[in-house]
This record gives sequence, C-alpha cells and structure tokens, in this order.
Amino acid sequence: MRVLVSGGAGYIGSHTVIRLIDAGHDVVIVDDFSNSKPTVIGRLEGITGVHLPVHSFDLTDVDKTEHLFAHESIDAVIHFAGFKAVGESVSKPLDYYQNNLDSTFSLMRAMDRHDVRTLVFSSSATVYGAEPQLPMTEDLPTSATNPYGWTKVMIEQILTDIAASDDRWRIAALRYFNPVGAHASGEIGEDPSGIPNNLMPFVAQVAVGRREKLSVFGDDYDTPDGTGVRDYIHVDDLAAGHVAALDRIAKDSSPISIWNLGTGQGVSVLEVIKAFEKASGKPVPYEIAPRRVGDIAASYADPSRANSELNWYATKTIDDMCEDTWRWQSGNPNGYPDA
Ligand code: UDP
Repeated sequence: MRVLVSGGAGYIGSHTVIRLIDAGHDVVIVDDFSNSKPTVIGRLEGITGVHLPVHSFDLTDVDKTEHLFAHESIDAVIHFAGFKAVGESVSKPLDYYQNNLDSTFSLMRAMDRHDVRTLVFSSSATVYGAEPQLPMTEDLPTSATNPYGWTKVMIEQILTDIAASDDRWRIAALRYFNPVGAHASGEIGEDPSGIPNNLMPFVAQVAVGRREKLSVFGDDYDTPDGTGVRDYIHVDDLAAGHVAALDRIAKDSSPISIWNLGTGQGVSVLEVIKAFEKASGKPVPYEIAPRRVGDIAASYADPSRANSELNWYATKTIDDMCEDTWRWQSGNPNGYPDA
C-alpha cells in the first residue's frame, strides 16, 4: 500500500515509517514540524534507503489537505498528527480541541472525497479515564481527565459514527500505553522540546547530565513500592502494531476496530530508574515529590485482543527499552540537530 503518515516526523510516526517500509509499503509523510525537526527525514532516509516524499503543512488547512489527496495516490492513512502534552492541554484547551479535531475533520473529508477509507488512528490508554479497571480491556467505558484525553475520546467517537454511516470505511483506533525506547540504530528517538513531561525522556536527560535530578511524583500510591505503575511499551513494538493493524483492516470486513497496544506488564517509577541506571551505567538521582495532579496509580493493558486478532505481541523488555533509549540519548544528548 501507499500509506500517508500524518505526523510522520514525530516520535511514534518516525518509527512506524521504518516499519512500514520494512514491510514493503510505500510512505508519504505530512507533518507541519511544529513539534518535530526536519532533520528526522534525512535520518529516516538513511536508515531505510528510500526517498520519502514530505508535505510540510498543517492538516487543519482544508485546501492544502485536499490538494495533497488530489496530487498523491494514497491507499491508506495512519493519523498520528496532533498536540499531545497533557499539562499544556489544560492551560490551552481551545488550541487542543481545535487542532486535534479540525485536523481530523479535514483529513476524513479529503479521504472520503478521494475514496481512501482505510485509516489507523493514534489513540491512547488515557481514554480509560480516572478510575480504570485493571487490566484495561477495550470494552471498558471511555472518559478523560484533561482536554488532550478528551480529544482522543471525541475522535474515537467521531470515527465510530463515520464507520457506522458507511460500511466502506476500515478504521482502527489503537490505544497506546506508554511508548518509550528508540530505534536500534540510535539515530531516531524521542526528542521532546523543553522540559520533558514524560518519565523516560526525563530520566534519560538526567543520566546524560542535562538535568540534575528527577522528581518522582508520589510514593504513597496503592502500588507495590508506592510509585506510579505504567505499561511501558517499546516504540518499535508499537510501530509493528500499526503495520499489523493496517494489514488486518485492509482485509477485514468490520468498519471499525479498537485494539490496545501494551505489554500487559506494569512497571513502577522506581523500577524504571533502576533499569535505566543498569542500562546506562550512570546514576539517576531523584527526590520524592508530591503527586502530579490528574495522575492515576496504575495503568496496564490487557493486550489479548491485539495478540489474538493481529497476531501481534510486544517483544521487548524494560531493559531493552532503557538500553535503546540510552543509545539514542547518549549519541544525541541534545536531540536532533536543527539542520
Ligand atoms: N513521573 C515521575 N516524574 C516525572 C514524570 C513522570 O515520577 O518527571 C511518573 C508519573 O507520575 C507516572 C509515570 O512516571 O507515574 C509515567 O508518567 P508519564 O508522564 O511518562 O506517563 P503517563 O502518566 O501519561 O502515563
């Protein structure tokens, strides 16, 4: 297939581009580079050995989106593009709702007009809300605790309604748990702008000496060591899940499918710190800080639906995730260069 990857220069998008090409697909990227660097593209071309057509614009631009579909032959879309910082979404809700919803509307309309009705959407385990049952299964009710999460809930609902309106659609919503790690080459990885919001990039920046110490947000949760528990999944396993979902929906008869992509294993903040110290050989100093507003104690997937329906399994351990993160972080201490 010729696959349009929106947000293809981003963290998960870039790793998925590599997996798509490995699986024999052709890729076209659309990205506005608002939260990624153009230098990613050269690295992707170096790793894959193929030229990547790139369209640089914001998908909320309806005319440019239409023009893209009119001039490129596209068989399917993987839609990663969107704002994703939880805290920022609380202070700028209008930006988040407008950007994430408008870009999806613009994309879906262009797809429909050009008879491209195969879509994989980048959703999140955040749709399980504030007090999820564990492990999380796809049939649990959805809700959210912040505007970012609500955009995921809303877009899933919109896609469900679109799929119900026209059975030519083939849509997958993939609910990611906590993507971490980097490509085995060390050339591609997570490069957050500013202070990292997420645990793994923060830990990596402490280990490499960019930050003094980590704040552990709470050690009094009802978890084995009191710190938050998450289902960390290697970004390369996650990328493989997109290829598996795309292949499956292209053959499937169901207009919409939802799959969790996680390992099913919960790992605590203190366990991540220990694994990272082992992988890097560097100390990760930390202090216990108050709980972060909106955090839940524990989150982990029941990945059995994706296991059985996609024949997809997460293969990498937390040690693999830390080793690959460290290779990327130590080789690129300041992330991607500007040019
Ligand atoms: N966390 C932490 N310090 C940080 C960032 C995160 O202790 O600087 C904790 C956070 O409270 C949670 C876990 O690490 O228990 C994962 O947080 P992250 O933001 O990476 O993912 P999310 O909470 O969105 O699942």
